Amino acid sequence: MTQPLVITIDGPAGAGKSTVAQSLAARLGLTYIDSGATYRAAALKVLEAGIDPLDELAVARVIASTEVRITTGDGAPHVLVDGQDVTARLRTPEVTLAAAQVSRLPEVRSKLIEMQRAFAQGRGVVMEGRDIGTVVFPQAQLKIFLKADMEERARRRLKQDSHDSRVASIEKTAYEIGRRDQLDSERKISPLKPAADAVEIDSTNLLADQVVEQILALAEKRSLGDPRRVS
Ligand code: C5P
Repeated sequence: MTQPLVITIDGPAGAGKSTVAQSLAARLGLTYIDSGATYRAAALKVLEAGIDPLDELAVARVIASTEVRITTGDGAPHVLVDGQDVTARLRTPEVTLAAAQVSRLPEVRSKLIEMQRAFAQGRGVVMEGRDIGTVVFPQAQLKIFLKADMEERARRRLKQDSHDSRVASIEKTAYEIGRRDQLDSERKISPLKPAADAVEIDSTNLLADQVVEQILALAEKRSLGDPRRVS
């Protein structure tokens, strides 16, 4: 039996991870997983339970009895919390901030990481997040760390979250991203940082397709993936 192929894409918010990881997974016929959605799902549960995301004991208690799942049939993945599809509710500013707060807790991380690791099966997975190459899959065959200038990241995030009816500006979005970068990079466990063996790609002046082509070239050079890759 061949080992599943694992490609990790880590980096800060708005660096282009989702678009690149989804497209790469489609091209290679692999499963795409957005690990951030699992932290967002945990945050949503905490907020809906009326718990302060900074109340560590209460957060740990509620998450211990919560089931977070991702379904990956045909089409876009769905996130389920205790069996309920919450995918459409994960991208509000409140959930975004709470995700960065609850993700600092070891109880939350260990539970979600176990679920994330279970996706390394079948043909394999492209998983994006903050600690995928460093902690979740340290043995991954290919690790990418995607970065981009703050202004460009804010512009992309604004576009991605444009269904939010509240009017946001580049400046406000950049401020929020900066705050989250700080929380994610300075936390004690699994901080956002490139794995020692990650390939860093600056996507500021690149289209998502160009980043995908660079990663496919790296995979080919390492003889990874299926030569019959989907085009
Ligand atoms: O990627 P996304 O912006 O959806 O992630 C939301 C939050 O989830 C991040 O700010 C981070 O705090 C947390 N996260 C994490 N580890 C991951 C993915 C996301 O801590 N692998």
